[in-house]
Amino acid sequence: MAQFAQMQTEQLREIEEQHSSGVYAKRPLMLVRGEGTRVWDADGKEYLDCATGIGVAAVGHSNPQVAQSIADQARTLMTCADAHFYNDKRAELIHKLVEIAPGERLKRVFLCNSGTEANEAAIKFARGFTKKPGIIAATRGFHGRTLGALTATWNPKYRKPFQPLLPNFQHVPFGQIEPLESAINEETAAVLLEPVQGEGGIFPPPSGYLKAVRELCTRKNILLILDEVQTGFGRTGKMFACEHFSVEPDILCMAKAMGGGMPIGAILLREDIVIAKGLHGSTFGGNPLACAAALAAIRYIEQNHLPERAAETGRYFLEQLNKLKEHEVVREARGMGLMLALQLRVKSGFYLQRLMEHAILALPASNTVIRFLPPLEITHQEVDRVIAALNSVLPERPDGKPSAEEDD
Ligand SMILES: *Cc1c(COP(=O)(O)O)cnc(C)c1O
Repeated sequence: MAQFAQMQTEQLREIEEQHSSGVYAKRPLMLVRGEGTRVWDADGKEYLDCATGIGVAAVGHSNPQVAQSIADQARTLMTCADAHFYNDKRAELIHKLVEIAPGERLKRVFLCNSGTEANEAAIKFARGFTKKPGIIAATRGFHGRTLGALTATWNPKYRKPFQPLLPNFQHVPFGQIEPLESAINEETAAVLLEPVQGEGGIFPPPSGYLKAVRELCTRKNILLILDEVQTGFGRTGKMFACEHFSVEPDILCMAKAMGGGMPIGAILLREDIVIAKGLHGSTFGGNPLACAAALAAIRYIEQNHLPERAAETGRYFLEQLNKLKEHEVVREARGMGLMLALQLRVKSGFYLQRLMEHAILALPASNTVIRFLPPLEITHQEVDRVIAALNSVLPERPDGKPSAEEDD
């Protein structure tokens, strides 16, 4: 019986290998079930999940309240074009988003289906509203894979093969205000930044940086777009990361954790940032099913004080990660809330693989970082399990065999 299950898993993996597009270098693990902080593979082996589908399952895997809302809504109404009709769930979600928005000025919402789409919408609204083309983004920044968001993404490895990309985009060093000020000219529509850089390796901003960027954008009359696709919904210890720095963007992008596992994204816009009817849109954006999931996820986050929990557990987790600096391969630990990185002196792929063998799932971020994006209700005891696994694998050295994910 066990052998048959094993064979099936192999066959299913083989199908993905042969017939999926081939753009992903996966680990040899097939996940079939999740609950809270844990996931299970096809053989029934349990893993503590600090990857959460890249920071998606902040409210835990198959959160019962989110699952119930999805089931109820699936039986009620799944699709309803935002372009043509009003919908009760969508209205409720938009109201909730405006309510949890940082500051007093973000009063409008555009709904979409992913992080890259949120950034595309932000770029279009910025260009359409200001009637200027220029977008300034940052080194190490990541904003998605569609052509507009990709142009704003920094890593040349992702961008170069697809050139020519959009004109009038520039990258300036993250964390430095002078190069940003010199890059701004009369063509500049917006500055686009992650408040805490994620894919680039988990880099919180230097102190005073975001505040200075905000003041500069206000003084020069250009828009500040904050990409909170990874940082949003409690991940860093506040509902949105910009709240740590008392900075309000003009456009705020969100996705990943927003739908409790359902694909959904959105931008929040300053009330006066409007473009003409018909200039942007989405078939699936604002569908009642995703809206119901997002409403349930946000309510769960609020009712269970997940931002506060992420702040508290995150402090403990970071403290423990810092103690790992006694290992030769560890350079530093950094992050905010439960968006944490262990920066190694070597590539992280081998250690991610070894952690998996110790039943811990984590993520890469840049070549040399082990990234942790656990569910926000992870306990101290579970953090201790991660640390124990790290303590046993960090003294090990790869046998020279390159790891599939070291380039991620
Ligand atoms: C993941 C991510 C994106 C892209 O989101 P997708 O849903 O994969 O398109 C954009 N910006 C940031 C900051 C992200 O972390």
